[in-house]
Amino acid sequence: EPGLYIVATPIGNLGDLSPRAADILSRADVIAVEDSRVTAGLLRHVGTKRPMLPYHDHNAEGVRPGLIARMAGEAVALVSDAGTPLISDPGYKLVRDARAAGHLVVTIPGPCAAVAALTLAGLPTDRFLFLGFLPPKDKARAEAIADVATVRATLILYESGPRLAACLAALADGLGDREAAVTREITKRFEEAVTGTLSYLAVRYAEAPPRGEIVVVVAPPGDPAPASEADADAALADALTRLP
Ligand code: SAM
Repeated sequence: EPGLYIVATPIGNLGDLSPRAADILSRADVIAVEDSRVTAGLLRHVGTKRPMLPYHDHNAEGVRPGLIARMAGEAVALVSDAGTPLISDPGYKLVRDARAAGHLVVTIPGPCAAVAALTLAGLPTDRFLFLGFLPPKDKARAEAIADVATVRATLILYESGPRLAACLAALADGLGDREAAVTREITKRFEEAVTGTLSYLAVRYAEAPPRGEIVVVVAPPGDPAPASEADADAALADALTRLP
């Protein structure tokens, strides 16, 4: 059926491509892609060959009207290099304009590094805020962190290996020394989640900047770091003085 199909793709393990995603990709009239070499690899895995059209931040404005027009009679699929399109990736304006033009919009959900990281972190999941990539420069990053310092939710953000230690130190500065998890290479051979306080993690990764793809998950405010026995004794003594 003509329209726009938002197709999530694996974030490292090809086994995570859903049968429905494979089906849509093999039947799409055209696939809007970030990088045609990356998607060509995926199509090879599926055993299909479909026309691809680059759609990324640098050409989206120019390409979008043509793609929208094609949706009247053709099935247009949107993928990114990995994971769910629109999540720290292009696509929301394509969805917006497809809707405005009255086209069918269908999502084929699947892997998303942010949600996968949340499931590995062992931190509260009832409320979370996705921050994408923080600005790389110190001042802008500190401001972005200050903006969310009082938000009562687990925070999820993407970061690169070389910037990780500085980012963790800035988070410790701006949020207080909360519990956090650094998750890496999710669904790949060296998947890991390292947990600890932000200051501990900042020191650890300053010594050895990690390779690979990274998601940082930070506990909400007031989610206490594991209390020491002395803290617990003090809290108990304090509570006892206030008993009627
Ligand atoms: N749209 C993607 C998604 O749904 O997760 C995210 C795209 S964003 C441009 C790429 C960032 O996602 C990476 O820099 C990294 O922070 C994170 N990421 C992607 N794949 C990952 C993986 N396998 N393990 C950990 N983080 C990953």
